[in-house]
Amino acid sequence: MEPESRVVTADAIAGALAAVRQPADAICDRWTLEIILHLLPEARRFSDLVRLSGMASRLVASRLVLLQTIGVVDRRPYSDTPLRHVYFLTSMGLDLRAVLGRMIQWERRWRPDTVQSTAEIAGLKLDDLPASSDCAFCLEPVTARNVTLRMEPTLLQSPLDKQTIRRRTTVPAATSVEDGNPISQSLTIFGDKWGIEILICAFFGIRRFNDFRSAMGISANILSDRLGRLSNLGILAGARPGSHFQGYWLTEKGVDLYPVTVAVQTWADRWLVGRIRSPVRLIHRPCGREIALRSGNEDSV
Ligand SMILES: [Zn+2]
Repeated sequence: MEPESRVVTADAIAGALAAVRQPADAICDRWTLEIILHLLPEARRFSDLVRLSGMASRLVASRLVLLQTIGVVDRRPYSDTPLRHVYFLTSMGLDLRAVLGRMIQWERRWRPDTVQSTAEIAGLKLDDLPASSDCAFCLEPVTARNVTLRMEPTLLQSPLDKQTIRRRTTVPAATSVEDGNPISQSLTIFGDKWGIEILICAFFGIRRFNDFRSAMGISANILSDRLGRLSNLGILAGARPGSHFQGYWLTEKGVDLYPVTVAVQTWADRWLVGRIRSPVRLIHRPCGREIALRSGNEDSV
């Protein structure tokens, strides 16, 4: 990505990160994503969610409360004595198919051997999930390489420092690449809010450790840990081929995550109240319009 006219300022990056922090606080948590994944095919009982996810009941319970508070999940009774509920995705939750569908599509491209079978185990019909990375207007692919940034200076005056930002810093260790889950690598990347922030910074051209650190306001040890995880997954590389400059470069696999980050922001723009708008508009260079991903089959829900 490169700016249309002016240089990307620190304020613009801060604004873009503030805009992504809202959805990240809502859904970028590995347990939350795991529950949403298991609710995609159908309504589930609490005990089914515990069994399918392999998570502790306490974790399932706490994330279900959180998801109901946000409005992503609702429940209805299936038994009166004793009172028991099934949990299901609301319209807001079903719209996350656009996000998880693109995560699964990305995993299918980069580890095709395991995704198909793990998705079947999870009861997911892969072809029913929205997976398009094409522009809704010109139908050309949207990639980090054919996107231009357009600044909206008026939005830079947003009171960024007045937000209440919940930062999750305790997350489990990186998931094994071979995990039996169709989004296991995505869970490592988007399993806490820092992953998507690092990706946004990298899409903006940030390469140096200290530049990531000051843009995100993250401690050195957490940043080091997350950069290591992304490097282990082959999303970041330590140096540009043929260059002596050391830094963190997005690999092709990393650039390919761009549509996932677009889907997260599209979902947030549609559903989150009091949305902090990014001062940066993403413009698709082939058609010159603000990016919208082709919805494909997600409208049929
Ligand atoms: Zn386009």
